[in-house]
Amino acid sequence: MNTIIYIENLAINVQRKRVKNINLSVKKDGQIAVSMPYRCAMATVENFVKSRLSWIRQTQEKINSIVSYQLKYENNETHFLWGKPYCLLIEISNKIGVEIKENQIIIRLPEKNNNAENRQYILDNFYAGSVKNQLSLILEKWITQMKTPQPKICIRKMKTRWGSCTPNKKSIRINSELAKYPPECLQYVLLHELAHFFVKGHGDDFIAIIDKNMPNWQKYKEMLDNHNFQAA
Ligand SMILES: [Zn+2]
Repeated sequence: MNTIIYIENLAINVQRKRVKNINLSVKKDGQIAVSMPYRCAMATVENFVKSRLSWIRQTQEKINSIVSYQLKYENNETHFLWGKPYCLLIEISNKIGVEIKENQIIIRLPEKNNNAENRQYILDNFYAGSVKNQLSLILEKWITQMKTPQPKICIRKMKTRWGSCTPNKKSIRINSELAKYPPECLQYVLLHELAHFFVKGHGDDFIAIIDKNMPNWQKYKEMLDNHNFQAA
């Protein structure tokens, strides 16, 4: 028997089984599953899950969107915004949009448009908008600090790169998927592309620019590398 319970807006799939203890796991798609003995009270399970909330969130953050190809954009699915996990909620409404409410990402759309493709499209647009907003907050600081010209920035969902640039046109492309990672990852990609306005390859002079402007950049580069994209 499967039951879904909600704790702090996390959807938890609870299953009664022939087990001795309560077992908690975060699946590789980020979903949370608990198996519990038949005789165990639901309140005991709730307390058990509550005591492990920080572990659950940390584990979800680690696996993040490695699994984005498996997403169905359905209720209770885990989705990420700026490195934090959220529980997806679909609401039927005549107004199309996305709202962040506590630990939930709410996608609103009309009944007749309610399919996975549209839900993904709406959320992707929201991610692109979030990246745009974030860039508007940090771009001036970086171009002043690095003394680069004002770049033309294009934000779009890309399959193979976190970012790329054409130095002689002063144009930069930024992957909207960066909205799923901590904001420092976006900052690193922006810095990386701006540094190419001065240096072509990724040699010592390139690294020196990155080091000077973001001393802990390696942590964020690794986070992005683990998901198989590169900042070109
Ligand atoms: Zn590069």
